[in-house]
Amino acid sequence: MFSWSPPSGLRGFRGRLTLWFGGLTLLTLLSVGLYVGHMATQQLAAASGEALHSTAQSAADLLGANLREREQEIILMSQLPEFTGGHLDQPEVLRSLERRQAMHGEYAWLGVADEAGVVRQATGGMLVQQSVLQRPWFQAASRGVYTGDVHEAVLLAKLLPGNASGEPLRFIDFAAPIRGADGRLLGVLGAHAHWSWVAQTVESVVQHQGRRPEVEVLILNRAGDILYPERLVGTLRVPKRITADRYYDMVRWPGGMEYLTSEVAVATRTANDLGWRVLVRLPTQIALQPVTALRQQLLVLGLLAALLFAFVAYRLASRMSYPIERLAQAVRRVEMREGVPDFPDEQDAREVAQLSQSIQSMTRSLLAKEQELEAVNASLETAVTQRTEALTRANEELARLATRDPLTGLYNRRRFDERLDECFQTFRRTGRPFALLAMDVDLFKRINDTHGHSAGDTVLHQLAQLLSDQVRAADFVARFGGEEFVVLLPETGKVVDAMTVAEKIRTAVDAAVFPAVRQVTISIGLSLSDVSDADASAVMRRADDALYQAKAAGRNRVTSIVLESQND
Ligand code: GH3
Ligand code: MG
Ligand code: MG
Repeated sequence: MFSWSPPSGLRGFRGRLTLWFGGLTLLTLLSVGLYVGHMATQQLAAASGEALHSTAQSAADLLGANLREREQEIILMSQLPEFTGGHLDQPEVLRSLERRQAMHGEYAWLGVADEAGVVRQATGGMLVQQSVLQRPWFQAASRGVYTGDVHEAVLLAKLLPGNASGEPLRFIDFAAPIRGADGRLLGVLGAHAHWSWVAQTVESVVQHQGRRPEVEVLILNRAGDILYPERLVGTLRVPKRITADRYYDMVRWPGGMEYLTSEVAVATRTANDLGWRVLVRLPTQIALQPVTALRQQLLVLGLLAALLFAFVAYRLASRMSYPIERLAQAVRRVEMREGVPDFPDEQDAREVAQLSQSIQSMTRSLLAKEQELEAVNASLETAVTQRTEALTRANEELARLATRDPLTGLYNRRRFDERLDECFQTFRRTGRPFALLAMDVDLFKRINDTHGHSAGDTVLHQLAQLLSDQVRAADFVARFGGEEFVVLLPETGKVVDAMTVAEKIRTAVDAAVFPAVRQVTISIGLSLSDVSDADASAVMRRADDALYQAKAAGRNRVTSIVLESQND
């Protein structure tokens, strides 16, 4: 699994604390900022929407009232005596019309037509004697009061001066029937109000309310077509009606821009409801401009606060981590075996001071224990060395005991057998010969019987010493058993040489004085190694046989059994 680890510089105590503090502060302030921004957006949108609605309502009310007023005016005028008198050509009729036109500039034309649709009198003398029989206002007003929707000038278009902007002249028609005292239709009073009058009405509301220039007021007819302002007529399609249960809505208009929009129906209360609507809109972006600024300020503030908190956190963490870092260094020195260092004595952080003291005493006791252990180890090693040496000595003694005869100190029969075998193997391998002397004390039983067993032992011991003295260092002397001894003479292949040694031994024993028994003699059987021998026992057997012959021949002598090939 992926896991993020901070860069090495931030892995320490202070780095982590700084990161956490800074991050949490930023997160908190951003969350608060977002929430505040959201709330502010809602409230500002509501306030702006309601203000737009109020503007729309005012414009709609004024428009409705004005239309109603104009209609009432025409009705009242149609009931004046000069009109109802039946003589539509009378000069009073024209005077009334002109007086009304002069009062305000909203009427472009006021005139009366007789029941046949012929204009009898009119302001400016326009359309007099012309037929208006086909005009909707005349036809409608023949039956009752009429207020017509906005339309372009038809008959008057050529007679009236055009707009400065070059746009076509547009009028709203007001008309009322003129009836005689008997209720008979005498004619129709018609009036064409300038559409610009409506524009002025709306403008006056906007100006009165002190609205910003970005606020736009639109007037729509029943079909939803734009009647005002002039520049948007026929060029802008109004989106579907805004939500009914709210005063305002955020509506995306053709062109992609979103507008805070409010719509109010115009209550005309005229004879026939025109079904107009007033719509006020303001780009959302502009309406919410203060929130955007607020958001930016919050963001900057959040970043600054995060930096400040991170800095404070860093300082705090440094202060907190310093003793811990020193403690860690001290422990590291202990680990590196650099002796017992100075442990930090922190006054500010009680827990660190306690920890420091604990580690210090623990270190001291551990080091003391370590020294004790080293001392114990050293003495153990000495003891082991001493024991090993003693064991080696004991082993050597054991080995010696295993190969020596306890009475005489000479090699025993077991060791002799081994040595004889070795000599025979060497002879086989290299051809280096050896000689063997088998010896037996003469009439030893009698010595024992005469002087006692102990004296016999003493004789055997002295004899062993004597034998050892008579031979070379390379020669091998052993006690074969009882009062029998053997001597191996390596590198000796000639009978004469072996005989010389044997004689030398015999005469030395013969000449020697044994204090316990005075004189002792020995008989010696001599044999030499031979290539025909199957094993060492063959050499031994010949020496034994020779010894037997020496005994038989009278004792105290050397006899050899020499094979054919061994003769010099
Ligand atoms: P011969 O000349 O024929 O060899 O006569 P001998 O008496 O030596 O012959 P024998 O073999 O009959 O006697 C050997 C004696 O040696 C018998 C025994 O008691 C004695 N003997 C053997 N070993 C020891 C020993 O270790 N100490 C003592 N004191 N006597 C021993
Ligand atoms: Mg014997
Ligand atoms: Mg004997």
